[in-house]
Formats: sequence, structure tokens, C-alpha cells
Amino acid sequence: MSTPRDAGRVVIVGAGLAGFSAAEQLRALGHEGPITLIDSEPAAYDRPPLSKRLFDDDFTVDSLAFATAEKLQAKRIDAIFGRTVASIDPSGEYVSLDDGSVVEADTVLLTVGGRARTLQIPGNDLPGVHVLRSFADAVAIRDRVAPGTRGVVIGAGLIGAELASSLLHAGAGVTLVDPVAVPLLPAVGEVLATHLHDMHATHGVEVVVGVTAAIEQHGDRLVVAVDEGPRLEADLVVVGVGLVPNTELAADAGIETDNGILVDAAYRTSAPRVFAAGDVARRRDDDGSLHRREEHWEAAQLSGQHAAYGMLGLEVPARGATWFWSDRHGVHLEATGRLSGPGEIVVRDGGAHPAVFLVEDGVLVGAAAVDDNNTVRAARRLIDQRIPVSEAELADPGVALRSLLRAAR
Ligand SMILES: Cc1cc2nc3c(=O)[nH]c(=O)nc-3n(C[C@H](O)[C@H](O)[C@H](O)COP(=O)(O)OP(=O)(O)OC[C@H]3O[C@@H](n4cnc5c(N)ncnc54)[C@H](O)[C@@H]3O)c2cc1C
Repeated sequence: MSTPRDAGRVVIVGAGLAGFSAAEQLRALGHEGPITLIDSEPAAYDRPPLSKRLFDDDFTVDSLAFATAEKLQAKRIDAIFGRTVASIDPSGEYVSLDDGSVVEADTVLLTVGGRARTLQIPGNDLPGVHVLRSFADAVAIRDRVAPGTRGVVIGAGLIGAELASSLLHAGAGVTLVDPVAVPLLPAVGEVLATHLHDMHATHGVEVVVGVTAAIEQHGDRLVVAVDEGPRLEADLVVVGVGLVPNTELAADAGIETDNGILVDAAYRTSAPRVFAAGDVARRRDDDGSLHRREEHWEAAQLSGQHAAYGMLGLEVPARGATWFWSDRHGVHLEATGRLSGPGEIVVRDGGAHPAVFLVEDGVLVGAAAVDDNNTVRAARRLIDQRIPVSEAELADPGVALRSLLRAAR
């Protein structure tokens, strides 16, 4: 490994997974200078449990925290929690906080994530209409739920589906509204997307296809009006329609943004001493082509870690196929690579849930399966190593994907 450059005083804005992972990786790579992690939130904590575990008895911010104060101290990571960064200096020499104080820096990393997208419809700001991005959001939702509560979840993507499942299992009646008949199609392909979406109705979630036109207050209840569809009574409405990247700090500092903070392969923004990673960052190749922003846990972790390499001037490790998971109605979905775009979809039937693969030019490019981590783990290695695969073997539930890896050795 080459010798790291001295990144000096590193200030990391945003102590979510990307920011925290970057701080830890800086230390692991031998960075000796000060590291300051700043977040508006009360702690550096993990977000996936917000939609999955919000009704658990031990659901506290401490139980979600990546590290205790002692652990941060042991790694010499200074934390400033409960303070918002109001602006950053484009030359990366300081950041200003909302109380007027200034934190000096030599290198700045922006891992500011995103905020929940809201619906631009009448009633979107009524009390009882929620989003889910932070611990406080999850607590506000939890506090409105008792057995018999009627909840309407607008948006049946990954977070909406998880929350619908959690609300249902907490005893609420749930209606899930989405304009698309089969959500998640690009993420897991039609067969699995349909299978997963059908689980909602099987478990007792009312599923409505339609565009939400307005949310109205009628006495102490809300009514969700679906365009050319039903009017749904609710005690609680949760809008889960995606994420808006927090690009403002960068844009105000004159740093290039385009539905994300633009970064190169070393996670450097258009300002040489300012880096970005996690949900907010968007890769731009040398030829100007833009990647999609990734909004998954592992991508945030890896990009934070890899940004640490970038900040230290070290060669950034290669990234393999993307991977994410999601849980609903007691099952665990994993997916790797891509399941839309060019190629042939192969379906493996035979178990309780189908597994799906996308094959392009004889090579696997994507896979997804339910309650079958081994298949997805092996698929990911087949993708990364570009090992030729046979569609017949992929479709055969009797062929373990591991054996295809072994056969290629
Ligand atoms: C409810 C939920 C469930 C999820 N479930 C899954 C899952 O099952 N599988 C999966 O793969 N992924 C899941 N994800 C996605 C995953 O959690 C995210 O990709 C990951 O959290 C992104 O990390 P990040 O550090 O980039 O951003 P965030 O986690 O959003 O962290 C950004 C931090 O920056 C802080 N910040 C922003 N602006 C400022 C400022 N000006 N000053 C100070 N602090 C600031 C914010 O307070 C925040 O803490 C889920 C996400 C959510 C919200």
C-alpha cells in the first residue's frame, strides 16, 4: 500500500453509516490527525431498524447507535451531536454550525444523506401525516399506534412495504397505496416483485393502486383521497415516496451537484479538499457519465470506507456488485447486481418463494431471493468473477449456486 497523505483535521458532516464508517476507516488506515463527526441527531445511529424494529421494547436511540461515547473516545473520534452544520467553506478550511461556532478543518467529508420526499398535495402537512427517516420520525409513528389504529401507508417501495408490515404486526389495520400495480419491479424483477407485493394482501394489508390526490382532516380522523379511487379513513398516514438528497450545503458552497453531490472515483467533489459519500453522493466518471445514487446500507458503508482511502490519497478499493436486503411479513429478501435492463430473466421455482436471476451474454448480472442468503451470496461471487452460467442450472432448484463457483475453479 502506498503511504497515506496527511489529511490533517478531518471534519465529517453527517454521522450516519457513511460518516461513521469513514471515521473508523480513517483510523484503521493509520490517520493520526483529529477527526470530528458532526450531526444534528443525538447520536450516530443505524437507520434500517427504524422501519423494522420500531415496535420492539428495546427500541431506543442507544440500541441503534454504532458506538458508545467510550468507543468513540477510544478511537479518538470527537463527536458533536445535536448541532447542524449551517455552511461549509468551499476550500475545506472550516464548517460553521447553527450556533455560530466554527470548526476548523483541512479536509471535509459530506455524508449528509437525504430527507424523506414529501407529497406536494393538499393536506400533506396535517398532524398525523408522517415520514420515516430519523429515530424521532419512527417514535412519532410508534406513538400513534395502538391495536385497532387505522394506518395508511402511501408508497409501497422498500421502506413503505416494511413499515406496512410492522404496523400490521403491531395490531394496526393497514392500507398500502401506490400508483404502480407492482412496485419494486426494477429492483427485483417482475416475478419476485409480484410475489412480494402479493404477500401484503395475503397477510391482511389492504392494497390500493392509485395516485393519492389529497389528505383531509375530518374531526379527529384523516381521509386519504385516492384519485378515481377510494377515500381511506386513517388515524395515521405515512408517506414513503423516496428520498431527496441533502445537496444544499455543497451547492451553497459552489460545489457541483446534480441530484446528489457529484464525486469522482476517489469520492472527491469539485472542491479539492471536500469529499462526499453515502446516500448523498453521486459518482461521475472521467467521461462525465453519471451513475445512479445508491440508497442502500452496504453502499453507504463501503462508500464511507472508500472515501477514507480517497481523503488519504490512497488507491480506492474496487467495488463489486451492489447488494441490499429488506424484511417484510417475516421474510428476508436479498438482492445483488441488477435485475432490470438488458439480459434474460431466469426464475428458479420450487421452494416457498421464487429466486430470480438476470443473465446477459452467458454471465450472471443480478440475483434476488427470499430467505436464501446462500444463493444470493454465491450469485454475487459469480457476478463479480464473471463466471459463465447456464440458464438451465440457474433455473434448477436442485443445483446449489455454490457448486457453480466450485466448478469454475
Ligand atoms: C427506515 C429505513 C430503512 C432502511 N432499511 C434498509 C434496508 O433494509 N436495507 C438496506 O440496504 N438499506 C436500508 N436503508 C437505507 C440505509 O439505511 C441508508 O442507505 C443509509 O442509512 C445511508 O447512510 P448515510 O450515512 O449516507 O445517510 P444517513 O443515514 O441519512 O445519515 C446522514 C446524516 O447526516 C446528518 N445531517 C444531514 N445534514 C446535516 C447538517 N447540515 N448538519 C449536521 N448533520 C447533518 C443527518 O442527521 C443524518 O444523521 C433504510 C433506510 C431507512 C431510512
